[in-house]
Amino acid sequence: MAASGAPKRTDVVVVGGGCIGASTAFHLAGRGLGVVLVEKGHVASGATGHSGALVRQHYEARLGIRLARESLEFFQRFAAETGFSCDFRTTGFLSGARPRDLPAFDALLGLLQQEGVRAARLTPEEAKSVEPSLDASDYAALVYDPDAGYADPIATATGMARAAERRGATVHEGRAVRSIVTKDKNVTGVRISGGGLIETERVVLAAGNWTASLARPLGVRLPIRFVRGDVAVLRRPIGFGPPPKIHFDFYGNTYSRPDGDKDTLAGYMDTNPRKTIPRHELADDSVPAATIRDVRSRLAKRFPSMARSQPRGGWSGVYDVTPDAYPIVDAVGSPGLYVAAGLSGHGFKLSPALGRLLGEYVATGRRSARMRRSRPGAAPDCPSLWSASAASRRGDMRRGPPPQRSTPSAASREATRRGRRAPRPDSGRCRAGSPR
Ligand SMILES: Cc1cc2nc3c(=O)[nH]c(=O)nc-3n(C[C@H](O)[C@H](O)[C@H](O)COP(=O)(O)OP(=O)(O)OC[C@H]3O[C@@H](n4cnc5c(N)ncnc54)[C@H](O)[C@@H]3O)c2cc1C
Repeated sequence: MAASGAPKRTDVVVVGGGCIGASTAFHLAGRGLGVVLVEKGHVASGATGHSGALVRQHYEARLGIRLARESLEFFQRFAAETGFSCDFRTTGFLSGARPRDLPAFDALLGLLQQEGVRAARLTPEEAKSVEPSLDASDYAALVYDPDAGYADPIATATGMARAAERRGATVHEGRAVRSIVTKDKNVTGVRISGGGLIETERVVLAAGNWTASLARPLGVRLPIRFVRGDVAVLRRPIGFGPPPKIHFDFYGNTYSRPDGDKDTLAGYMDTNPRKTIPRHELADDSVPAATIRDVRSRLAKRFPSMARSQPRGGWSGVYDVTPDAYPIVDAVGSPGLYVAAGLSGHGFKLSPALGRLLGEYVATGRRSARMRRSRPGAAPDCPSLWSASAASRRGDMRRGPPPQRSTPSAASREATRRGRRAPRPDSGRCRAGSPR
C-alpha cells in the first residue's frame, strides 16, 4: 500500500524538510528525477526554523569558503532560481583580532582574498566609519566582508520545497518515515508511520538531529552529538544609529546581526560542551530570561548602547555536531542510502551548495571533487566532507564528538578563569566549528 497522497514508487525519497532536505529535493528534481520529500512535521520545523540564518563566507578552510561562496550567490539570486523569496538581506560582516592573534588573522584574510571574497582589512579607526556603534578599541585590525547577510530560514526551506514541487517533486508533510526498508542489503523503500510504503532504490536521510536514530537500525552509527543553541532578540535603543553589520566577537563569545529594521538577533559564538544534551529534541524551545540578560551584557561590551536594549524574546534550538564540525554528506551502509547530517551549525548557509553536490552524487553516482572522503591526517586546509565510514573505522561513533577539540587559547583560559563561557580558541578566525 502506498502512503496516502504519495506516489507508490519514486526514484528518490528525501527524509526531512529542513533546508538540507528541501535543497536536495530541489536539485534532484531539477535533474529530472522523481522525488518524494517526507517531513514528519512541517517544512522548516526542525533546526532550520530555529536558525539564526547568518550567511557568511568567513571560513578557515578553502572547502568551507568555496561552499559558502557558492551558497551566498544562490541566496542572492534565490528568487530567480526558485520563483520564491528567501528575504535575503545584505548586511556586511565584521570581526576583529587582538594584537597577539594578528598572524592567524592575516593568514585567513589572505586566504579569503585568494578565494575571491571581497574581504578588506580595516584599522579600528576605519571600522568606526563602517560601524559607528562598535567599540573596537581592543582590536588591532578588523576584517570586513560587505557581501555577507542573512535570510529568512523558514521562507528559504519553504521556497526550495515549493520550487521542488514545481519541478515535479511531491512534498509530503505531517508524515514520519518510520524505517528504511532493505532487501539483500539494498535499499528498497521507506515505511511511513501509520502505514504505507514508498518503493525506491535511493533514500537521502536529511533528518537533522533525528538522522542518527533512523540510520542506526541499518548498522550505520553516525558520530553526531546534540548541542543546545540559544538565540536572543533585542530591540535596539532609540538613537543606536544605522542597523549594525553581522559581528563575530570571539573574545566576548557573541555573534549578532540585525533582525529587521529595529531588532538585533544575538547568541553565543561557542557551542558550550556543558550544553551537550542527551536527546535530539528540546521539550521546551523557549530561551531562559537569564540567558537573554547574559547575551545582552556581553553584546553591550562591543556595542555599549545595547546595555539599554529591550529583550523581545528568543528561542532555543539544537545543533547536530560532528567531531570535526564538518558535515557528513555521503553514501553510507546499504547501497542506495545517503546521509546529509551533522551540519554542526553551518547547515543553513551551506544548504544551496550541499543540496547541489548531494543531488549530483545521488543522481549520477559521481562524487564531486569537493566531496572527497576525509582521511585521518588529511591536510587541515582540505578537511573534505566528513565520511561516516571513516569515522566508524576509527571508533569515533561510540565515543561521540566533543563540540570543541582545539587547545584553548589564552583568551579562552582567561575567560574560564573569570568563570565565563570560553570564546572560540582560534580567536580572530572562523573555524568550521563556529556554530553559525
Ligand atoms: C540556534 C541555532 C542557530 C543557528 N544559526 C545558524 C546560522 O546563523 N547560520 C547557519 O548556517 N546555520 C545555523 N544553524 C544551523 C542550521 O540551522 C542547521 O545546520 C540546519 O538548519 C540543518 O538543516 P537540516 O535540514 O539538516 O535539519 P532540520 O532543519 O532539523 O531538518 C530535519 C527535518 O527532518 C524532519 N524529520 C525528522 N525525523 C523525521 C522522520 N522520521 N520522518 C520525516 N521527517 C523527519 C524534522 O521534522 C525536520 O524538519 C543554527 C542552528 C541553531 C540550532
